[in-house]
Amino acid sequence: MTNVLFAAGDKNWDSYQTPLKQAFSAANLDIDLRQDHDPAETDYIIYAPSSDLQDFSPFRRCKAVLSLWAGVEKIVTNQTLAQPLCRMVDPGLTQGMIEWVTGHTLRYHLGIDDNLASQNGEWKPKAAPLARERRVTILGLGQLGQACAKMLAGIGFQVTGWSRRQKDIEGIICLSGDAGLKTALKTADILILLLPNTAETENTLNAETINHLPKGARLINPGRGTLIEDAALLSALDTGQIAHATLDVFRVEPLPQDHPYWAHTKVTVTPHIAAETRAITASEVIAENIRRGEIGLPFLNLVDRGAGY
Ligand code: NAP
Repeated sequence: MTNVLFAAGDKNWDSYQTPLKQAFSAANLDIDLRQDHDPAETDYIIYAPSSDLQDFSPFRRCKAVLSLWAGVEKIVTNQTLAQPLCRMVDPGLTQGMIEWVTGHTLRYHLGIDDNLASQNGEWKPKAAPLARERRVTILGLGQLGQACAKMLAGIGFQVTGWSRRQKDIEGIICLSGDAGLKTALKTADILILLLPNTAETENTLNAETINHLPKGARLINPGRGTLIEDAALLSALDTGQIAHATLDVFRVEPLPQDHPYWAHTKVTVTPHIAAETRAITASEVIAENIRRGEIGLPFLNLVDRGAGY
């Protein structure tokens, strides 16, 4: 019997209990899944940022902490965590991000807002260019950045991606390093941020880097709020350097009621809903990692604690 502690909160317990048990059974795992295992007897911990669990030191037998979230900034610096940490790479979450990013990219590309705003009895036809004439840049070419890049390139957009380590992806212009960032920004009619929140990525979009964008660029941020220097973005929206921003993530969440983003006419706020972990597919990922741990195979989606993601 393998003891799995579900430390991801009561709300998640309601939605995950049944899918996890089904996934464990399908993987032929004999698991005692509970919200209250004795730390000394816990083999795995399922974790979410909303968890009350902050001190991992009593869990000496625990083989891995399995996050339900893709972004791990809230746990990666926890000094009591000596166990391997796996983040969530969930096909359901990835599909959700592809759909959200594609939808918002097409909103900008097709000028959907202009059409809605000009429904006033005046017949003024103005067709959008084809996607192949629109340049889209994605900062971050990990699980989500790559999946979105491939979908957008499949539609026909000219897609450039930027990452820490150089990539080679068919149909995508891949860049890295400081010079690569400059080039990636210069060619961004639409800029999408899919970087993790780390010390290195904080304020990637700041007063200086914003100036590399073509005037009137559109911004979509489903990554993390810390990627943007908010004052610089507000000022770029005022000058028209950035024409519009769609923001899903913020430094403080929920976004405070008096934050200028809420009322800004050039900002669309969405409440961190770009891509949710889906209980059924995520439970299969958790089960697979426990199966691997139990037979001594390397865990999937291990976090690089040094890099912070
Ligand atoms: P990932 O697979 O870890 O990919 C991260 C990408 O960022 C990688 O390409 C990585 O480069 C690049 N990167 C990291 N640090 C960098 C740096 N200093 N300079 C340049 N590139 C850097 O993560 P993911 O699964 O794609 O998720 C990305 C982020 O999306 C998450 O961390 C989370 O913040 C966010 N997210 C948001 C939602 C939402 O609902 N809004 C949902 C899920 C996730 P390498 O390829 O070289 O490692």
